[in-house]
Amino acid sequence: MPELPEVETVRRGLEGAVVGRRIVEVKVLGRRTVRRQSPAELVTRLEGRKFATAGRRGKFLLLSLDDDAVLVVHLRMSGQLLHLSGAQRWPMAPHTHVVVALGDGTELRFVDPRTFGEWFVSSEIDGRGVPLELAHLGRDPLLEGLPTAYLAARLAGRRAGLKALLTDQRMIAGIGSIYADEICFRAKLRPDRSGGSLSAGEVTSLAKAARAVLRDAVASRGSSLRDLRYRDLDGEVGSFQERHAVYDRAGERCRRCGDHVERLKIGARAAYLCPGCQL
Ligand SMILES: [Zn+2]
Repeated sequence: MPELPEVETVRRGLEGAVVGRRIVEVKVLGRRTVRRQSPAELVTRLEGRKFATAGRRGKFLLLSLDDDAVLVVHLRMSGQLLHLSGAQRWPMAPHTHVVVALGDGTELRFVDPRTFGEWFVSSEIDGRGVPLELAHLGRDPLLEGLPTAYLAARLAGRRAGLKALLTDQRMIAGIGSIYADEICFRAKLRPDRSGGSLSAGEVTSLAKAARAVLRDAVASRGSSLRDLRYRDLDGEVGSFQERHAVYDRAGERCRRCGDHVERLKIGARAAYLCPGCQL
């Protein structure tokens, strides 16, 4: 699933591709993508408007319109946004669920084989520019930073494991399975350590690791896994997967200590870690 670095890469692409462009026509082809409002309502609220800004909060893309409403897009498991022009538009990719024709003749398309992705237009926006529907989201590390004190306050007394806490969108918005594992590795902490068990020094390491991993992953334009499902707006893959220290590397050698990376079951989810250098 695309996480903060992948969604941020798509957002940066949208700034150049759609901001300032008029929405000429919107076609909703799939049944599940638009579900908080009717597809007809979404179309009515988009057609004729202009995209004003391309924002992001956690894993949500926020495309504000010139009437101050916001188009919210979540890629979920397999959603891809593609910006296509001219002959690139045909043939249309299978699983194309939304097509937005722009004033400059290009199209923004939403392709989503697993159909968990979502589009909706919100006009209830708070003072931070965040739609009411996303008010539950915690701090976005890229937009607002991730101070050690914030993390310390939220880990204190918690029995849940670090991976569960880091991926809790109400605490930190944007971190999922890949980056939680990479952050724990960089901080030399096991993903199943309980939040409340960390010393002050370990919390500092975790906050530093989170900032560094996310920054590096954004610079590498995100991670494309084996399914190559994540691509940017131009269809290009990211490269941070080449630098993954533990994620999806079970059985391979840890580059820090030489031990073997393990895949651990934590409840229903898996986590990758190096038992040699994560405590
Ligand atoms: Zn190691």
